[in-house]
Amino acid sequence: RHYTHESLRCSSSTAGSSPRTLLSQLFLPTAKEVHEGTSKHTGQSHRLMIRAGLIRQSSSGIFSFLPFGLRSLRKVEKIIDEEMESIGAQKLSLPILLNANSWRQTGRWETVGSELFRLKDRKQSEFCLAPTHEEEITLLVAEEISSYRQLPLRLYQIGEYNHAYGQGRKYRDEMRPRSGLLRGREFMMKDLYTFDKTEEASMNTYEEVVDAYKRIFSRIGLPYVVAEADTGNIGGTTSHEFHFQSEAGEDVVFSCSNCGYMANEERAYGIKAGDLCTRCSADIPITSSRAIEVGHTFLLGTKYSSVLKAEFTPEDPVTPGERRPMQMGCYGLGLSRIVAAIVETSHDEHGIVWPFSVAPYRVCIVPGLKDVKVSDTVERLYDMLNDKKELKGEIVIDDRMGFSLGHRLKDAELVGYSWIIVLGKNFLEGGKIEVQDRKTRQKNYIEIDSVGDYVV
Ligand code: ATP
Ligand code: MG
Ligand code: MG
Ligand code: MG
Repeated sequence: RHYTHESLRCSSSTAGSSPRTLLSQLFLPTAKEVHEGTSKHTGQSHRLMIRAGLIRQSSSGIFSFLPFGLRSLRKVEKIIDEEMESIGAQKLSLPILLNANSWRQTGRWETVGSELFRLKDRKQSEFCLAPTHEEEITLLVAEEISSYRQLPLRLYQIGEYNHAYGQGRKYRDEMRPRSGLLRGREFMMKDLYTFDKTEEASMNTYEEVVDAYKRIFSRIGLPYVVAEADTGNIGGTTSHEFHFQSEAGEDVVFSCSNCGYMANEERAYGIKAGDLCTRCSADIPITSSRAIEVGHTFLLGTKYSSVLKAEFTPEDPVTPGERRPMQMGCYGLGLSRIVAAIVETSHDEHGIVWPFSVAPYRVCIVPGLKDVKVSDTVERLYDMLNDKKELKGEIVIDDRMGFSLGHRLKDAELVGYSWIIVLGKNFLEGGKIEVQDRKTRQKNYIEIDSVGDYVV
């Protein structure tokens, strides 16, 4: 039995064990280069994501996620879901096509301006494609919640790319949608909205959510910073932004290396780089760096609840029949932007270096040549690794034997599996298996029984 395309196809499903994942069967259109015109202005992530077969552009700022890209997106989503659940937030799905009425009530139909995608139905009623959902969720809660007994409440939504329709997607007709998923016109956001009885309770909620966000980014495993921010057209009193520091970012954050204070550009207005910190007045100048905004938290107060009448009867009414507006917060994480920002901040000249947490697949096993001993060992290794909790469903075999070993190894580095395992000449001669750490590119030669301990 030779290690051909055909023989592997047979071995993809073996009696008793789960089917093995073969690259020849997957939709992974990698490319050496991308065509001219693909953004060069803002970093590498756009080109890399296209080259690595993760996304394709449909039109300016609008993308399809291909299977590998979607797997990484899903992993980020899962981390977010778990952390949202840990603070008692419940998931729902709001419509994307929103009636203009509530947007007129809050004044945002005018203030959002040309970033809003506007459209009319056949009766000439006006709608927009949701750029965010404060109005919609506030109206919903206003209808359904009326007593202090029903509060607090934490509701969030997230995109569902592989559903027939895409809840949680957001639409903004961005002026410059030119850096791939970093700034899309259609993009994915996790948006959480919180409703509390008192201002104090909403401040506690705010702290809890900020902590959950910190856990989310720690679990993703890349460095991030939190900066004080202005509230812009969303409104409210307190706000923070989560950033990945990167030259490709369109934002600037200012920081004091003495007290750790950080603020975004609007917030730091009037203090600029080189000045001394107004917080700690240390004799060290403030520094600035470019950054990608990946998350944003807002304490809203009653801005939306007063206008849209999200009110409740309090436990301690001051006047008979009193109704009080709920204290709100809103919290966004740019899901699709996070995936691009990971690629932007974690790659080398060979391709993407995914953190283990969100790699599309974690291990790629590459049979170097057609040989029975090689193919048998590849299968054995696959099954051994697949038995590990962290690696279950996380392994592919690059069985595209029509491609040279060099070609397949280049692809593996481009796609960015955390571990690339090669069984070639070295294996046939010495019996040891080559295991490459994608991050350091260091190769080690290991006995088959030890590979499992090595790669997790
Ligand atoms: P930016 O300053 O980059 O335009 P924003 O401040 O307008 O972003 P928010 O309204 O705070 O964005 O939305 C919450 C999150 O949604 C942002 O922190 C970001 O991660 C993400 N996001 C916003 N706009 C886009 C976009 N055009 N493409 C991808 N993600 C986006
Ligand atoms: Mg914006
Ligand atoms: Mg911003
Ligand atoms: Mg923002």
